[in-house]
Amino acid sequence: MYLVFLGAPGAGKGTQAVAVSKQLGLTHLASGDLFRQAQTRGDELGRQVKSYIEKGLLVPDEITIKMIQEHLERFNPEQSFILDGFPRTLEQARALDKMLSQRQKAIDRAVYIEVSPDELTTRLTGRLTCRRCQAPYHRVNSPPRVQGRCDKCGGELYTRPDDAAETIKKRIEVYLEQTAPLMDYYRKAGKLLSVNGSQDIEKVTGDIVAALAVSPGRPRPTQPTEARVKSR
Ligand code: ADP
Ligand code: ADP
Ligand code: ZN
Repeated sequence: MYLVFLGAPGAGKGTQAVAVSKQLGLTHLASGDLFRQAQTRGDELGRQVKSYIEKGLLVPDEITIKMIQEHLERFNPEQSFILDGFPRTLEQARALDKMLSQRQKAIDRAVYIEVSPDELTTRLTGRLTCRRCQAPYHRVNSPPRVQGRCDKCGGELYTRPDDAAETIKKRIEVYLEQTAPLMDYYRKAGKLLSVNGSQDIEKVTGDIVAALAVSPGRPRPTQPTEARVKSR
């Protein structure tokens, strides 16, 4: 199963991708995490992307597509995965389809996590991220067991510089302009599943897993899926 997770900054893509990949045994690949790791390493990719991320702009397609392609090439084709934060433009979505079709594969579902704009800002201003494993937390909604430390790896939690109020505003604008059109792209392909992301974290995970559980010969849940999804 090949999945992409779509949604505005702060919708819960990372939170849900971690939970769903754990439950279903999928590999989680997050473009934002890969860029931040490159910045921590201070390598060429890290230097190339720094100024875009700081300003809340998208990294150019050419750089982003190349990075994802390199990662996907290392995957065993039988390995199921969740792409979180990629694609974010139509050009990226088309490039992804092309990469996969060369291996006689395709994205099975695009999971769209829907959250109201007001809620996004509250989530992002309170977000804490693990420096080591990138796991997301929230000061109020999802605090770590030990203050300032990641439950999973003990790494230090920090506030991402791009989670500052002004940059959040810019990222949401960029999302509406450049990424929101992807919904139509996947809807037309009959692959879009929409879930209500304004519920408890566990409830959202349950809804995603239930929507994905649909397989040939089993009745499709009418909620919260959207559009008809072709079974492969
Ligand atoms: P994204 O990857 O889409 O930017 P994250 O998964 O990092 O989103 O979540 C953004 C912030 O919102 C984090 O602080 C996270 O703990 C919090 N969060 C995620 N899902 C929920 C939810 N269902 N309810 C409340 N807070 C949430
Ligand atoms: P969020 O969790 O808030 O949705 P991410 O961690 O996915 O943000 O991404 C952080 C930043 O990395 C983005 O604001 C953007 O600058 C860059 N980035 C991540 N994924 C992509 C992508 N697919 N295309 C272009 N830029 C990206
Ligand atoms: Zn961690």
